[in-house]
Amino acid sequence: MPNEILTQLAAMRSYFNSGVTKPYAFRKQQLIALKDAVIAHEEDIYAALYTDLKKSKEECWVTENGFFLAELNDTLGHLKEWMEPESVSTNLLNLPSSSRVLREPLGVVLAIGPWNYPFQLLFTPLLGAIAAGNCVVLKPSEFAPATAAVMQKIIESTFSKEYILYVPGDGAKVIPEMMDHFTFDHVFYTGSTAVGKIIYKMAAERLVPVTLELGGKSPCVVESDANIHIAAKRIVMTKFSNAGQMCVAPDYVLVHASKKEALVKALKEKIKQFFGDKPEQSENYGKLINERQFNRVTSYLMQGNKLHGGRYNADTLFIEPTLLDNVHIDAPVMKEEIFGPVLPILSFTTPEEALAIIAHNPNPLAFYVFTSSSEKEKQWLDAVPSGGACVNNASWHLTNPSLPFGGRGFSGTGAYHGRYSFDTFSHKKAVMKTPTWFDPALKYPPLKGKLGIFKWIIR
Ligand code: NAD
Repeated sequence: MPNEILTQLAAMRSYFNSGVTKPYAFRKQQLIALKDAVIAHEEDIYAALYTDLKKSKEECWVTENGFFLAELNDTLGHLKEWMEPESVSTNLLNLPSSSRVLREPLGVVLAIGPWNYPFQLLFTPLLGAIAAGNCVVLKPSEFAPATAAVMQKIIESTFSKEYILYVPGDGAKVIPEMMDHFTFDHVFYTGSTAVGKIIYKMAAERLVPVTLELGGKSPCVVESDANIHIAAKRIVMTKFSNAGQMCVAPDYVLVHASKKEALVKALKEKIKQFFGDKPEQSENYGKLINERQFNRVTSYLMQGNKLHGGRYNADTLFIEPTLLDNVHIDAPVMKEEIFGPVLPILSFTTPEEALAIIAHNPNPLAFYVFTSSSEKEKQWLDAVPSGGACVNNASWHLTNPSLPFGGRGFSGTGAYHGRYSFDTFSHKKAVMKTPTWFDPALKYPPLKGKLGIFKWIIR
């Protein structure tokens, strides 16, 4: 296996070096081919995501294939403009030179995906890498096998193996096999922080640049002046989407003590309204991916008083949308990323109290604040460093391709989406062009006596 894959990687390197992936016409053609293949496999994608995660077609469209197609269309609309050399100004020292920044493809890049949005989180980096003119190795998660099989069919029926190579299998085995023996030009990884560290170390051995899109424990603050009805609706919508298995789901709520009772009441109402009395039978409600995740998330149910929910079924990997009260700050549910449909509700009376809780898990992937005061909004955004943020909303920032999406610190490094994906997969090459008709002697030795003029020019 390693030899076979290394031969394929060497073939990709030669293919990239031939220059065929660089022209605009080629990139555009490949993006259109990818779009057509994804559209042609629409029903297969829905069926696979239902099998893996019990997602409805509507949820798939918003968060998986429709999300991806919207980003692809946006990229197609801007690609020519993004590929243009960027003219920049030239400082006095270098006049009359001119300066520009060229975006060059990186080469052969590796994209590694997780299982929670198995299609979108592998194909969105792919489209950015294609747009930037690279060859791409795709490693899907082995834990969403139905979706992985459809993606393999799409890739292998659309692209040659020396251009886009699909490598399924156990990540702990196939990724080191590749990264230990081949120098990728970039590794784009989405997944847990624990595995992110392993990837970072492997990449460091060969000085391979990385983008790490990692986990998060994203706090959601509900201020005393928040619109409680809207806050409850939006929190429930995103927290329990995909049964809570979303990297930017609100992980826990910090509500101002004066509004706790009202918020809990509204959250319960919204859960019932969206998922009914029996969420297990709701078309709008998903399941946990596998037994391992099911066991991990059910263990949190005992770490607080249940304000709502708490039922589960191991046979169907179902866990009810659950609200927890009285959780201890040192309990695992407050130390680990929950990544499931369990929402601890904590209260605060001063911002300092809430900030002290947030500080236990610094630099979250996202931060949410519900408030009607722009002053409070500013104070909260200033006080909580995070990858991204929403005001009076949760998670939707990631659906705008004009915004960079990524974490900081333990929630990741680098960003993507739209133009940011194109930049992530491009090298910014600085070019200065200097005419030959002007070549002042001042620049050349002997330098003695020129300090005054140097100080005037370089300041
Ligand atoms: P994971 O880290 O278990 O797996 C991700 C990928 O890494 C898979 O393709 C897997 O095969 C591979 N892998 C696993 N072990 C490996 C090893 N030892 N060496 C090399 N590769 C290995 O993550 P997951 O459980 O699939 O995803 C859930 C996590 O991902 C959560 O923490 C979630 O927050 C995070 N996530 C982040 C984002 C984001 O955009 N920031 C999006 C989705 C999920």
